[in-house]
This record gives sequence, structure tokens and C-alpha cells, in this order.
Amino acid sequence: MSISHERVAEGIARETEAYVAAHPRCAELAAAGREHMPGGVPMSWMVKWPGPFPLHVAEAQGAHFSCADGIEHSDLCLGDTGAMCGHSPEPVVRAVREQVGRGITAMLPTADAAPVAAELTRRFGGVRGAVRRWQFTLTATDANRHVLRYARAATGRPKVLVFDWCYHGTVDEAFANLDGFGPDGEPIVVARRGNIGPPVDPAVTTVVVPFNDLEALERALARGDVAAVLAEPALTNIGIVLPDPGFHEALRALTRQYGTWLVLDETHTLCAGPGGAIAAWGLDPDAVVLGKTIGGGIPIGAFGMTEAFVSAATADVELEQVDVGGIGGTLAGNALSLAAARATLDEVLVNEAFERMIELSGRWTQGVQDVIDSSGLPWHVTQLGARAEYAFSPEPPRTGAEAAEADDFELQQYLHLQALTHGILLTPFHNMALMSPATSAADVDAHSEAFAAAAQFLTTAS
Ligand code: PMP
Repeated sequence: MSISHERVAEGIARETEAYVAAHPRCAELAAAGREHMPGGVPMSWMVKWPGPFPLHVAEAQGAHFSCADGIEHSDLCLGDTGAMCGHSPEPVVRAVREQVGRGITAMLPTADAAPVAAELTRRFGGVRGAVRRWQFTLTATDANRHVLRYARAATGRPKVLVFDWCYHGTVDEAFANLDGFGPDGEPIVVARRGNIGPPVDPAVTTVVVPFNDLEALERALARGDVAAVLAEPALTNIGIVLPDPGFHEALRALTRQYGTWLVLDETHTLCAGPGGAIAAWGLDPDAVVLGKTIGGGIPIGAFGMTEAFVSAATADVELEQVDVGGIGGTLAGNALSLAAARATLDEVLVNEAFERMIELSGRWTQGVQDVIDSSGLPWHVTQLGARAEYAFSPEPPRTGAEAAEADDFELQQYLHLQALTHGILLTPFHNMALMSPATSAADVDAHSEAFAAAAQFLTTAS
């Protein structure tokens, strides 16, 4: 079963017409925005939503939001995990309200910081509980940047190894792709397509190997110049690419063997359970990065380190220079972020919430699988805890390049726009649905129905 591009274009035209007709107020707000902001949006990538202008949100609560035109939507994007707790969860709202009245940011610690760090150790400390020294930032991007600096400081090595088609936030070192291997097997590293103004050629800072390729990983580490491997436990930003059985054990063993720190970025994979993929799969990193979700919607990032990592990384940091070494920020670790994180961890992202979310994600996956089976579309769907995603290849990819190869921007635009006109928001950069504690079976089933209608449209002639 192949899909014609004429049919996709026809679908986009049809859905665009419906979208424009239903959203006159959002169109007006977008036009006003264009007078003051490039693309009419407060951050450039918000132009990537399907349709001629993005929805403007009037109010969001739980798993739903209404747009400026008063249409209610089921939110399966959830701010790409920033709102994985559901919008404005009550315990977070309460804690934030109280904290706002008591001071928001003072560049001093509050009583919330240590309990939050302790809870992160309990959940994400690794099989040995060894990751137990935490620092807080405002974003996962910052947390990644800081860990990479520490890793270079700790080892005196210049490079970072990432997996091809990874995404770790706007981290310069991670904006690199693999362009095959040189004559003696060394990876050829190039700037990722669309990389805007890289400070240096990424080949200077970065080594890239394919996900799940242990031979290439070992060859790269054996050169002895890699300070840290920065990895998501499963790739989540080029669709979901799961690790092969044994991949993580080998990654841990090789990084240890070659004296490279292993940094696991759980910003997205914390959807795997209350302690992320680290707890679910029994992983044992040297450092862990967390982001967005743990503030229940309030900006926060965190990175945790083992005692050995902290000692090695900070051995040469002098007190007099500690604020100007490239780690930190005046708003980082602020009172509001930590009050929000405490409420999120204690009262929202609890075990029972994950049980429900994972069950619903299974229901969503099954709904999509049923449509794939009955329509004969050569696609597959993958679940990772509370998130699931379909992709346009019959088999799940083993590498980021295979996942990128299966991508089809036009088709994606059609499916996302069609979902939107059915009142469903998917994650714009790929075909991901995320469950929150507030998501319901009805939300999931509404997606299955809309997806069936899209498949029906795509597989019938015009
Ligand atoms: N790490 C991963 C794995 C991510 O997916 C992202 C963002 N999607 C980040 C880090 C960066 O998060 P932020 O944009 O909030 O800094």
C-alpha cells in the first residue's frame, strides 16, 4: 500500500480550508503577532505547527485546552513533555501560589531544594543509587551544557560522543550528524542540517556514531579523546528508536573501560516510569539530566552526578571563580522552580499516575496498530511508557538514520492538521502522543477514530 503525494496534497488543502474556517480569532492573533515577532511567534520553531497559523491558547487545564476560537482540544503534545503532568495540576498550582507570595528568586537556597534532590536520587540514582549530587537549572539544555563542561574538566579530553540524530536541546556539541566513516573507520562528523551559525565545525567538538552500533562506539571511544557519551536511553526526538537488548550493558562497560563518563539524558525518557528508563531498565550512569516535566510546567532542569564525577569535575574550581566558570545562571535553582518540583514529585508524578498513563499509552498504541493493520499502511507504532509514536516504515528503526529516512514532512503535516481539525494536538516535530495523569480513555479513543478517518482518506483514490 503506497500513498500518493497528490492525495496528501489534496488532504492538506481540504484540512487547511476547514482549519482556517474554524479559527478566525487565532488567525487575527497570528496577524497581530506578525507585526512584532519574526513569524508572528514568540519563539521561532512555533511556526512549525501545521496550518497557515498556529493555534493560540486561551486556557489549558488537565489534558485539554481551548483555543482563542473557543474550540476545546485534547492535548497529546503536552508541551513536548513540559506539560506531561497535565496543564496546571492542582498541587503544583497550590505550591506555586504559596511560593509566589513568599519570594520567587533570591539566588539563595530554600528548604525545598534538598528534599527535591533526595527524591531525584531515589528515582534516578541508578542501580547503585550512585547518582546523588544534584544541581538545578532552568532548562534541560542548560543541564546538558553544564554536564558536558564538567566532563571535559574532569577528563581533560576535548570531545563529546553523541548518537546520530539525537537531540539534547540547543547544545552546540550535539548538533552534529554522521556522514559515513573514513578509511580507518573513524566517523565523519558534519553539522546537522539546518544548524544555525555553529560556533565551530562540530567535528572539532563531537564524535557521532549510530545508535545501537557497538562496534562503531568502541572504535570511537578507543581513540581516548572522548570526555563523555551524552545519550538518551532511547532516541525520542527522531521518533522512538529503542535500544537493542544488551546495548545499555555494553555502553556502560565500554565507557568504563575507556575512561569516558556516561551521561544519560532522561528529559523525555522519564516517561518510562517514575524513575525513568534508568529505574525501568536498571541503568547505571555517571550523570543524569532531567528537564521540563519535573516542574509541572514551571521552568526547571536538573543534573545529577556521582560522587566521583563531582570530585573529578570540580577539583580545580576555585571559590573565587565559581560564578564565572560557565556553569550556572542567576535564576537557576530559584525558589519557584523548586517549590513546583517538590509538589510535582510528591503529589503528581506518583506511581499510580504512571500506571494509568502507561496503560493509556498502550491503549493509544493498540488503537493506532488496529488502523495500521486494517488499512494495510506500511507503518509501525512504538510505545515507550507514557509516550507512543507512529512512523512511516513497516519495521521499527534501529538507528536514527533509519528513522530519519522514513520521515515524510508532507504526510506528517497532513496527519497533524487532520488531527487538529478533529480537536487533537499531536507533537509537531514527529508523530508522538503523550499521556498525562489527566488524559482519559475517551481522549485516546477520539484519536483512534480520527486516525482511522485519515487512513481511510489516504488509502482511497480522489
Ligand atoms: N534533552 C532532550 C532529550 C530533549 O528532548 C530536549 C527538548 N526536547 C532537551 C534536552 C532540551 O530541553 P529544553 O528545550 O527544555 O531545554
